[in-house]
Amino acid sequence: MRGPLLSIVTPAYAEAGNLEALHARLTAVLRAAGEGGTAVDWEWLVIDDHSPDDTFAVIERLAAADARVRGLRLSRNEGSHRAILCGLQHARGAAAVVLAADLQDPPELIAHLLAPWHAGAQIVHGVRRTHPGRSAFERLSGTLFHRLTRRLTGIRSLPATGADCFLLDRVVIDALAAFSERNVNLCVLLAWLGFREAHVTYDKAPRRAGRSGWTLAKRVTLFVDTVVAFSHAPLRAMSVLGACTAVAGFAFALYVAALALLGQPPLGWASLMVAVLVLGGLQMLMLGVLGEYVWRALDEARRRPRALVESATRPAGVADVGADAGADAGVGAGVGPGTRAAAVHAVAELRRGSSEAPALVVIAPRRAP
Ligand code: UDP
Ligand code: MG
Repeated sequence: MRGPLLSIVTPAYAEAGNLEALHARLTAVLRAAGEGGTAVDWEWLVIDDHSPDDTFAVIERLAAADARVRGLRLSRNEGSHRAILCGLQHARGAAAVVLAADLQDPPELIAHLLAPWHAGAQIVHGVRRTHPGRSAFERLSGTLFHRLTRRLTGIRSLPATGADCFLLDRVVIDALAAFSERNVNLCVLLAWLGFREAHVTYDKAPRRAGRSGWTLAKRVTLFVDTVVAFSHAPLRAMSVLGACTAVAGFAFALYVAALALLGQPPLGWASLMVAVLVLGGLQMLMLGVLGEYVWRALDEARRRPRALVESATRPAGVADVGADAGADAGVGAGVGPGTRAAAVHAVAELRRGSSEAPALVVIAPRRAP
């Protein structure tokens, strides 16, 4: 007996060299990943995060050959978190597994993520034990990133090394739809949601081909996004620092006044400059921190869409309705015969990869009157 539909969501940035191998591995693994080693019904949503290479052409080829594969290409490089959210929005499964395209998170892990889900967990984090191929700087900055994020957000359930791969129940996927934030760290948001969680540890494999799309600049932006979205600690620190500086300044003013009254006013250009520069620097720093919050508040207030889909793959086996003038159409499973216009609309929705798209469009020759 087959289980419910499982969606696999993969963000892909310049991954042309990896997707075919990942498709082959997924096909092999999902043949026996269900309960008791049964096959799993699955779909694979690949979100091309506006890659500069021919990633989307590869996805189109895979989608043309395998109806379970669907691809969307974003109009800009939005980063993997937004790409994943876009994929989840289009996922139809009872659960979705988010898997990177570079085969660092082995597809064999899916069976291990499914087990806690069957036992009732709504979010299953794949927590990496090892992460090969990283430089000493990347290891250090990664550890610092996760420690600081845990400390500043105060979310104790956040996996200590972060989670690059996870399974989400339909309840969680639907809950995420209510969050329209643009500057979001999805892993922290998931931990913040508070659903029933489980952790599964795994060994990360080396990247199969290509280079990591996560530049240092993108990582720093993600860290600031995370802090601004989940913590007011920097603002609190600013108030405390401001208050301490004011008290110290006031005490020093009293000291200077006392010395002046005793006829020994302190002299010195150097001490004055030190005070001006330290205070000026502190103020600029605080303005910068404030600016990060204000800028993000403005960005969210504009309510621009998180990501725009530039193109979608054409599903394998869908006919071109526009070319067939004499066709009658049945649209949707169980909806029965519809009009030609409805069929054209349905096929357009399917091409867009819309969640409104019907499960089935049947184009049949017009019946004799
Ligand atoms: N990715 C993306 N957009 C980006 C950068 C990365 O969609 O701007 C994808 C990438 O193709 C991969 C996943 O996010 O599927 C994880 O990225 P990567 O392997 O580059 O990160 P790392 O493993 O080095 O942390
Ligand atoms: Mg990777």
